[in-house]
Formats: sequence, C-alpha cells, structure tokens
Amino acid sequence: MDQCLKMASENPDQEVVDPTECATCGKTIDPSAWHPVATLFDDEGDFHLFTFCSVICRNRWVEK
Ligand SMILES: [Zn+2]
Repeated sequence: MDQCLKMASENPDQEVVDPTECATCGKTIDPSAWHPVATLFDDEGDFHLFTFCSVICRNRWVEK
C-alpha cells in the first residue's frame, strides 16, 4: 500500500502542458495577466492543468 503511493507520486510520465499557450488555439498567454484555467484528472489519475487565452476558448474546450 505504502509502496503504491510512493510509486504514484514519483511517476515521471506525468504530462506537462505548456502553461503559456492556450490549450484551444495555441495563442501565447502572458502568465502575469488574468486568464481562464481548467484542471482535469484523467482515467489514470494524472493531474492536468490547461490554460486558455479567453473564456471563449475555455468554453470551446469544455464542449469537446
Ligand atoms: Zn485561445
């Protein structure tokens, strides 16, 4: 049990999404400016953070 938890926390395969690009249109985002974000845990329990240049792009991503 303890070993399983340790392995999960050290999983090197966790996907890294570039936080400076819009996940929908790929537009560069100024990280110091306000922008919408979305978080997701996939079927394997990996955490993903997505950033968007606008609420419109975030809504498009949610509708997929
Ligand atoms: Zn966008």
